[in-house]
Amino acid sequence: MENIKSLYKDLYKIYGDVGKWWPGTSEEIFVSAVLTQNTNWKNVEKALENIYKYTNSKNILKDLHNFSQQEIAELIKPAGFFNLKAKRLKNLLSFLSNFDFNIEKLKNLDETFLRNELLKIKGIGKETADSILLYALNKPFFVVDAYTKRIIDRMYGIKEKNYDKVQKIFYEAYPRDTDLYQKLHGLIVEHAKSKCKKIPLCSFCELSLKCLFHTST
Ligand code: SF4
Repeated sequence: MENIKSLYKDLYKIYGDVGKWWPGTSEEIFVSAVLTQNTNWKNVEKALENIYKYTNSKNILKDLHNFSQQEIAELIKPAGFFNLKAKRLKNLLSFLSNFDFNIEKLKNLDETFLRNELLKIKGIGKETADSILLYALNKPFFVVDAYTKRIIDRMYGIKEKNYDKVQKIFYEAYPRDTDLYQKLHGLIVEHAKSKCKKIPLCSFCELSLKCLFHTST
């Protein structure tokens, strides 16, 4: 698995420092991690704008918790699948109410315990839970998404589709480091959106000579 170890460095050379990459405050990231499922970021932003029109305090989680599922669905309409997402948000908010919507309280919990608790919430899968852990709570959990699987398949011929197994590949290749995982996931998404698209733009890709998909075709 030697090659995957150079993925971060290779992508960094192309896209530079993407910083924390996922925008927003911790409270916003809890919400956007649910809203971003099956939609693009522009729509997430529109939904967040709506939420801010109707919430006053600095903690949107606390405010949203006071809204009915129907009201939340109305606010997040631009993000699509709004009834389903409103239900998921309600479930997440109900969990967060046990901690008074206090991010610091959550950060102080054992991270494995917290991940297991998040995964017990209906509608919160591994990708969403790890996005929350990594970007809202700054915990070192690597986020695996369809882009990650696509890129390691094309670049290194790794056909693995199981979330845990792909995550383990990254854990074995990289140290448990929050900052690194935040950037690496961001870089992977940037690359998948700009070059390694569904139909890849290999002729424009800086990684083409290192890529199995390109060199074997
Ligand atoms: S060469 Fe093509 S398949 Fe390989 S990483 Fe670049 S865009 Fe993707």
